[in-house]
Amino acid sequence: MDNNIQIYADIFRNPIVMASALAENTRIGFGPLTDAFARAHTYLRIAVTDRCNLRCLYCMPPAGVSWAPSSLLLTDNEFVRLCELFARLGVRKIRLTGGEPLLRPGLASLAGAIKGIGGIETVGITTNGVRLAAQARALRVAGVDRLNVSLDSLRRNRFEQIARRDGLGEVLSGIDAALEAGFTGVKINTVVMGGCNDDELADFVELTRGLPVCVRFIEFMPFLGNRWCDAHLVSYASMRAAIEARYAILPVADPDPSRVAKEFKVPGFAGSIGFITSMTEHFCGGCSRLRITADGQFKTCLFRSPEVNLRDALRGGAADEEIAALAAEALYLKPRQHADIRELERRADRSMFQVGG
Ligand code: SAM
Ligand code: SF4
Repeated sequence: MDNNIQIYADIFRNPIVMASALAENTRIGFGPLTDAFARAHTYLRIAVTDRCNLRCLYCMPPAGVSWAPSSLLLTDNEFVRLCELFARLGVRKIRLTGGEPLLRPGLASLAGAIKGIGGIETVGITTNGVRLAAQARALRVAGVDRLNVSLDSLRRNRFEQIARRDGLGEVLSGIDAALEAGFTGVKINTVVMGGCNDDELADFVELTRGLPVCVRFIEFMPFLGNRWCDAHLVSYASMRAAIEARYAILPVADPDPSRVAKEFKVPGFAGSIGFITSMTEHFCGGCSRLRITADGQFKTCLFRSPEVNLRDALRGGAADEEIAALAAEALYLKPRQHADIRELERRADRSMFQVGG
């Protein structure tokens, strides 16, 4: 077993003992979280639940899912404590995801509490939109700044095939409600799968003619149990070519070096489109992201990466410095970039709903 794996195995077995040892050995204080490649990590994505009211076939295994027992999910107070701690470590942006975050009771007040933490500049939510119409206003009032809504088909039957549940009407109403509630910069996340919904690219571009949203076409990624295969991956190059065959699109400049989408606009349209090219043109060089899974594990990469059990550390009484030391140590081991497609396909260790996207 190499040293790093041994460290993580020990942390997992006895987080408090290890955390104390790391805090002492590395004398990690509070300051920006930077990895071995000088990437500052200012963005934390938190899966606030693993539960979901849809069963998207690219996210959940066909055999069904078993949810983590509620006792293993973090409480609101635990999330707020971690967010305060990460804010002291330089995190400025937090996104609440899942599972479906809008299923978590009291989400608006949790989001509001996080928004109120000193240093936190933006709080976003990624949702499937099914319950958004009823909650959009409360989320806006609570101070949520950004909303991303997932939507993979504009055809009712196909929506149901992909999500394994009905819900297109609710999602479209949710998007309208979000705009009415005053959200700007709303993003629509569309996972494009070959032979499934790749014939709808133009329909989604059309959506941006009148709606001030950014539709982001996401390359399908392999995760545990999602039956990823080459034939289902529609590359950025081929999506862009298909769109450019019908529309003249112009790049939208974005000064943020850590942005993940390549953004374009059809001149005259109210909204824009983007491409998230994790598979064919990764953007690891500018990665600023940290993650906490629904069951309280700290991850430094969306894909297979060592996990640190912050839940047990919190519940075992670890001091902030000890938790900070655990995070810094894990970050130090973050690889320069994620593995290639073959390796990801072979070694997927979690389903997307457990990590949080
Ligand atoms: N339930 C919420 C939703 O669907 O928006 C939040 C959680 S979901 C896991 C977060 C994002 O991950 C969604 O936009 C979803 O489309 C994306 N996603 C899930 N599985 C994916 C996969 N295999 N490849 C690419 N994106 C994926
Ligand atoms: Fe649920 Fe989101 Fe996964 Fe779809 S992508 S199953 S909505 S967690």
